[in-house]
Amino acid sequence: MKLVIFGPPSAGKGTQAQKLSKKYGIPQIATGDLLREHVAKKTPIGIKVKEILEQGKLGPDELIIEMIKERVSQPDCANGYILDGFPRTINQASELEKFASIDIVLNIGVDMELLVERAVGRRICPKCTAVYHVEFNPPKVPGICDKCGSELVQRDDDKEQTARKRLKVYQDQTEPLIEYFRQKGKLVDIDGSFGIDGVFEQMVRAIEKTHK
Ligand code: AMP
Repeated sequence: MKLVIFGPPSAGKGTQAQKLSKKYGIPQIATGDLLREHVAKKTPIGIKVKEILEQGKLGPDELIIEMIKERVSQPDCANGYILDGFPRTINQASELEKFASIDIVLNIGVDMELLVERAVGRRICPKCTAVYHVEFNPPKVPGICDKCGSELVQRDDDKEQTARKRLKVYQDQTEPLIEYFRQKGKLVDIDGSFGIDGVFEQMVRAIEKTHK
């Protein structure tokens, strides 16, 4: 089963992808997490994309596509995977189709103002990539990851100004993919205004309908 979790920044793609990964036993592949790891480790890719990430812009298609191709060729992807944050451009989507046949694209729709609120309150674990929100999904102990005990951080690109910039980039470069996948009959709309469990239930229903 090969899934794409699609939607604007802070729609909850990562949170849902982690839950789906656990339920179906297939890995979550989050391009944002992979890139942040490169930045933290100061790899050549990390050095190249650091500024791009800080500015809320998109990384170069070629680099992102190579990174994904390499990742999906790993043994843990043999039974499928969940793409989170990829594809983000029409070019990425058409390249993806050359090496993978996607079963379903789950498109999370959320009101724009709510997205900024979700971004600004989001906290992530830099060690295990778990995602929290100070109000909507707080950790048991404020500021500490439930799963591994590390100190949570706010992503640099979740500061309000950059969060708004990322929404603009989404509207300009990524949103056109909705029609692209809809025309291929792969898109299912998910109402992202529900809480975490409400969104998850919609996704599971959509997946089980496709895989009957
Ligand atoms: P995310 O964690 O999905 O919000 O991604 C964080 C940042 O990583 C984005 O704002 C982009 O700068 C970069 N990024 C992640 N995925 C992609 C992609 N598929 N194409 C280009 N840039 C990406």
